[in-house]
Amino acid sequence: MAYRDDLELRKLIHHLAKWRRNGKRLPHKPLFILFALSQLHHGNKQLIYSEIHVQLKSLMSKFCPSKASARGVHPFISLVSDGIWQLNIVLRNKPYTDNQLIENGVAGAFHPNVLLLLDGNTSLIESIVEEVLQCHFPVCIHEDLQKELGLPRTPPVKRLTNVDFHNRVLKAYDYRCVICDVQEQPDNILTRIYASHIQWLQAGGPDSEENGLALCLLHHKWYNCGLLTITPERQIIVSQEAGGIPHDNDELRKLHGLAMRLPNHPVYLPYAEYLNWHLREVFRGTVKAKRMVL
Ligand SMILES: [Zn+2]
Repeated sequence: MAYRDDLELRKLIHHLAKWRRNGKRLPHKPLFILFALSQLHHGNKQLIYSEIHVQLKSLMSKFCPSKASARGVHPFISLVSDGIWQLNIVLRNKPYTDNQLIENGVAGAFHPNVLLLLDGNTSLIESIVEEVLQCHFPVCIHEDLQKELGLPRTPPVKRLTNVDFHNRVLKAYDYRCVICDVQEQPDNILTRIYASHIQWLQAGGPDSEENGLALCLLHHKWYNCGLLTITPERQIIVSQEAGGIPHDNDELRKLHGLAMRLPNHPVYLPYAEYLNWHLREVFRGTVKAKRMVL
């Protein structure tokens, strides 16, 4: 398989890591592509599974909801059939376990034709990194991913945020965080409140108040990382898997079971379909968490 130019490769990566039509997230491939690009940028052209599996697992557990793991195919293997990745041996028996990959000394690398375009081409790597980030992850966790992976990245062009959506959501909640009730104060950046999409824009969530929550910076991050969610009954639920991303555990756990702050008019109440999407696709836990003893 030959790729004539950078554009063709970018198109291929864009299509193989796209969203499912029903908004179901498949974050494993995009995450693995970011991981492999970062490794290549740092000079690691071949990745030996036994050397990376711990880091890879940690990455998946931090940035993929557990339910997505259940339906995700191991990207280290599945990318081979997409034509951009190859292994040093042919694997025949499915499914493959971690131990099989380790015991057989399995190693992977970008396909030589892909490597030809990527190797030493920092601007191409950066542009693919940027596109994968923008297509699959909310802006508020881009920096976390960048730091975690050591991603090469040019300062991103500041995207135009939907000012109208931002203003309407903040107004609906009287400029207060729905989790901690802190209110935005003019000229105090520490109290800044953000309008967060419940169902991400990347998954087709609309710019409407019913799909928005007003959140302070800390809770905006926690919500988008799946450390907490809000049920259709508007109860805050904290993930049992709340680990990995720096946070204060006590501060997080004490939120469990609390009711979210409601908007100033019932017409702005978040729709259950969007809350359920977040619960299913982003939250790192199960509804059972509702009854867990903290
Ligand atoms: Zn808050």
